[in-house]
Amino acid sequence: MTLRLTPPADAAARRSAKPVVVYPVGALPKPDITALEAIRQKMVKQNEVIVPPRDARTFRVKRGQFFRIVCVEGAQVGDLNLWNSHDLMERFFSGKTRALHATHVSTGDRLWSTLPYLRSMATISHDTLGWYGWDEDGAGVHDVIGTRCDPYTNRLLSGSDYDRCCHSNLARALATELGSTPGAVEHHVHDVLNVFMCTGFTKGSHQYFMKASPVRAGDFIEFFAEIDLLGALSACPGGDCSATHSSDAAACHPLKIEIFESNPGSIAHWSWPSASAYHRSHGTPGEETR
Ligand SMILES: [Zn+2]
Repeated sequence: MTLRLTPPADAAARRSAKPVVVYPVGALPKPDITALEAIRQKMVKQNEVIVPPRDARTFRVKRGQFFRIVCVEGAQVGDLNLWNSHDLMERFFSGKTRALHATHVSTGDRLWSTLPYLRSMATISHDTLGWYGWDEDGAGVHDVIGTRCDPYTNRLLSGSDYDRCCHSNLARALATELGSTPGAVEHHVHDVLNVFMCTGFTKGSHQYFMKASPVRAGDFIEFFAEIDLLGALSACPGGDCSATHSSDAAACHPLKIEIFESNPGSIAHWSWPSASAYHRSHGTPGEETR
């Protein structure tokens, strides 16, 4: 709801200020896509994990390996979390990835980690939905604007409890991985990359919307790991997210994670990202920690 106020006399002038890209893309170190393409031509599949519908699974990927998220049956959205496998405090930073790249990501974009690390955890090396671009509703695929479906928001809006939201699926999978309980580890679950999800903001009210995912069996998005990763992927209860989520109403399908080993010689010259070199004093002399 918008409170209608009488605009000031210079409203048009104030609104005519020119937009400036907050983080100029040209300032970002660009991944060497040509080198990455050469590396992926020599990769060899090592392992795979099936994520059942309305559930999640974890997986581990070493620096220099690739992982793919594959649609294997019907159209299905996946919610991805990533951590530094040696330090769960360093995890995927959906908001800064959005600010640095765009609301939706594809080949050549990087998945950045949280402060105070802020480095590329993985680079998207291939995306079979890269053709989609932006549709007439302003929607794109693979967003970093949604957060994940969760039982708390569901309870807030519906007054009922549902245990198969992506947040809960990710918490259960992480608990299994760490030998803990979902309640004890759910604070590690974070805002996701919405894999295969087709979303945007409505033109009039700027509300977050979803529409049927264009993903089909055989489509995949692929990542090149730039640090050692622990990942978790949930097959969202929303299925293709064409209508609902946070319930058992939608048709849901499994997803597959495939892990590929790189040829050691082919990654010998890759420049691995370090954690940010900022000194972390935040203006307090003597408090530098780096
Ligand atoms: Zn979900």
